[in-house]
Amino acid sequence: MISRKNLYFFYKQTPDMQEIVTPLEDLAEENGFHLVHTIDEANIIVSVGGDNAFLQATRKTGFRDDCLYIGVNTDQLGFYTDFTISDQKRMIQAMKNDEVEVRRYPVLEVTIDNEKPIFCLNECSIRSNVIKTFVIDVVIDEFPFETFRGDGMIVSTPTGSTAYNKSVRGAVIDPTLPSMQVSELASLNNNQYRTLGTSFVLGPDRKLLLNVVQDGNDHPIIGADNEALSIRHAKQISIKLADRHIKVLKLKSNSFWQKVQRNFL
Ligand code: NAP
Ligand code: MN
Repeated sequence: MISRKNLYFFYKQTPDMQEIVTPLEDLAEENGFHLVHTIDEANIIVSVGGDNAFLQATRKTGFRDDCLYIGVNTDQLGFYTDFTISDQKRMIQAMKNDEVEVRRYPVLEVTIDNEKPIFCLNECSIRSNVIKTFVIDVVIDEFPFETFRGDGMIVSTPTGSTAYNKSVRGAVIDPTLPSMQVSELASLNNNQYRTLGTSFVLGPDRKLLLNVVQDGNDHPIIGADNEALSIRHAKQISIKLADRHIKVLKLKSNSFWQKVQRNFL
């Protein structure tokens, strides 16, 4: 299953984490993997930490679609982490015994005002950075759909649907369904402003355009997963499903719905 074996460990560079990662590095080498120290040489990227570390690992390594990502949790199993450090031997065993599979997760491609596109594995969030509401024209495939006024909007991937999106009562979406979900943050609804009021899910070929109405309060905070972008004056945010996917190694016996049950039920 895994033929190219150049392995790169991604983790927070602290003495504590180094102590955790060193035995993992040894284990990898004992099992025929070759450790590399630059991302360019890697075929396999192992994130050590929680889901937050995994989000950082994909972002800092440029959402490589020619690499396999593996999430190893330092604590409990998460949504992107199918392995834990307390279970290292089991991890190698699973790989050898064909108990693992590669799942391709959809990611969002976000273009802000014709800048270089950025990618999101969980979601892209747009929020007012002041107490006042702000206004967004929501356009689906060139069709002016609604005008939003409120705190902001979240556009999430299927795997991101269990994160921020879920906290605002968005639906949990099966990651085998390539799609993006649009959820509102406190929309104002009155005789002047009307929004759908529920989350909606767009198919893989749709293009979503969020036009920030330039009324003086037009400096939203734009978040890509767990990072705030430093863009100050956004006019147009274009979002679609990216052509690329993130390939993640997971246990066959640990399906998305098992993760949902384990974490929420
Ligand atoms: P954080 O604020 O420390 O953590 C948010 C929590 O969400 C953590 O428990 C994290 O797990 C978990 N998480 C991350 N991705 C998830 C996913 N796909 N499904 C289910 N849970 C997930 O920030 P963070 O750990 O860096 O995570 C960033 C994410 O936090 C953002 O992408 C956004 O989705 C979410 N967020 C949520 C809210 C909210 O619910 N009100 C507000 C802002 C951001 P770990 O502990 O394993 O990292
Ligand atoms: Mn301005």
